[in-house]
Amino acid sequence: MLSLDAKLRTKLWRQVVTSIESYLSEVGDMDVAPEVTVGEMCDLLRPFDFARPLEPTAAVDFAVDVMRRYHVHNAHPRYFGLFVPAPTTMGIAADALAAAFNPALGAWSLSPIAVEIERHLVRAFGDQFGYDLSGCDGVFTTGGSEANHTALLTALVSKFPNFNRGGLRSVDAQPVLYASSESHHSIHKAARLCGLGADSVREVPVDDHLRMDVNALSLRVDEDKAAGVAPFLIVATAGTTGAGTTDPLASLADYAARERLWLHVDAAWGGAAVLVPELKGLLDGIARADSITFDIHKWLSVPMGAGLYLTRHAEIMGQTFSTAASYMPPASAGASAADPYSHSMQWSRRFIGLKVFLSLAVAGWDGYAESIRHQVAMGDYLRLKLKAAGWDVVNRTPLPVVCFADSSYAGGHDPAYLNAIADQVLSSGRAWISTTTIGKGVTALRACVTNYKTQSEDVDILVEALQSARERCATFAGHKSNIGATS
Ligand SMILES: *Cc1c(COP(=O)(O)O)cnc(C)c1O
Repeated sequence: MLSLDAKLRTKLWRQVVTSIESYLSEVGDMDVAPEVTVGEMCDLLRPFDFARPLEPTAAVDFAVDVMRRYHVHNAHPRYFGLFVPAPTTMGIAADALAAAFNPALGAWSLSPIAVEIERHLVRAFGDQFGYDLSGCDGVFTTGGSEANHTALLTALVSKFPNFNRGGLRSVDAQPVLYASSESHHSIHKAARLCGLGADSVREVPVDDHLRMDVNALSLRVDEDKAAGVAPFLIVATAGTTGAGTTDPLASLADYAARERLWLHVDAAWGGAAVLVPELKGLLDGIARADSITFDIHKWLSVPMGAGLYLTRHAEIMGQTFSTAASYMPPASAGASAADPYSHSMQWSRRFIGLKVFLSLAVAGWDGYAESIRHQVAMGDYLRLKLKAAGWDVVNRTPLPVVCFADSSYAGGHDPAYLNAIADQVLSSGRAWISTTTIGKGVTALRACVTNYKTQSEDVDILVEALQSARERCATFAGHKSNIGATS
């Protein structure tokens, strides 16, 4: 049953391809998000006790049917959500091919072409970010979280020479790192996973534009040094998750060089700006970062998971990850340096690079620049429409993440009101947005253009859905503003 005969396979492939094609051509007419309970899901799955085998085509039909009905359709042009894009067509094809050939990217000798395709891409992206190719290396990861975790590890190995053998107990003073209060939660998680502990992350305050305050950073580093702990790493963010802002990378690069701290730039989403000449300036200074996180499965729209860790210190990869074991194939002549296991937390690893390679080969850098430029224009259009409809835009970024509250009601900045608006929009099925908290605990609605298919009509429908939501929540807002007036 693990391998089906050729006739059934052909039937199955056709069914899969037809299902994919109908989903992709119909998703724009579906409700963006389902309304569903955990109980319903459990009822659906209860019959699957795996005691009796199912017909392959029936099994696939089930999967397609439930994915269509019980899934937030991030491939929908009105999914204005987190950075989960509609996947590229070439990426979908590549993922099927990667599954079929199933190369294991542990050692070079196991799949020379897969390893070399990824190495070629690492250099191509390193070049885009301005790294000198003679010293540049990197590795594909499951996503930004693994790339950030890799960054913490490489920074530890680089700054504390005994760390590799002796672990943290061989380090005299407690290592501490700095990230802004707007940075991604994966930094905190990585600090715990590295054994540093959550308290080792110093949350640096941000300025009025939600960018890391370099003076505050410098004060905190001085304080920490005086207290006998060991600063080793600054994590700057290029394109924060909540509000799309970018820390001052050039000043941080100057500061990090002066203090001999490792500078990591988490450009998981915003790094794509490097591909667009008129946006590239946002990332000035990134070429001086010691390492960079860039998620290809975010703004470059390949299917998950495709993250990338890059560094301009090629030697640090092997120092951090290489090990030996008897079952590993002997290194081929001259190729051992390219064994991915010596660059990665992973051993058996999926061929992540193929979906990147095929998407980029077909779209080209220009095709991607075009797509990003279009989404930025949709973000600008959304900002205009929101302001015209009486919403307050509360974040400042050229990137298409728009955080906003309601300026037409006294209670229009109230978190409960904004959550009610987001719920109303979701349950209308017309769009997907969320709320977030930015800066000093300010709650805002958040709409992000993250789908290359989003057009101005989609933005118009979102703004209409917001207007209906506002009308339905009006009583609630009036009530809140009265409370505000009497307290
Ligand atoms: C999404 C994101 C991450 C985490 O990446 P995953 O691919 O989701 O693991 C890290 N940092 C930033 C700024 C992000 O936007």
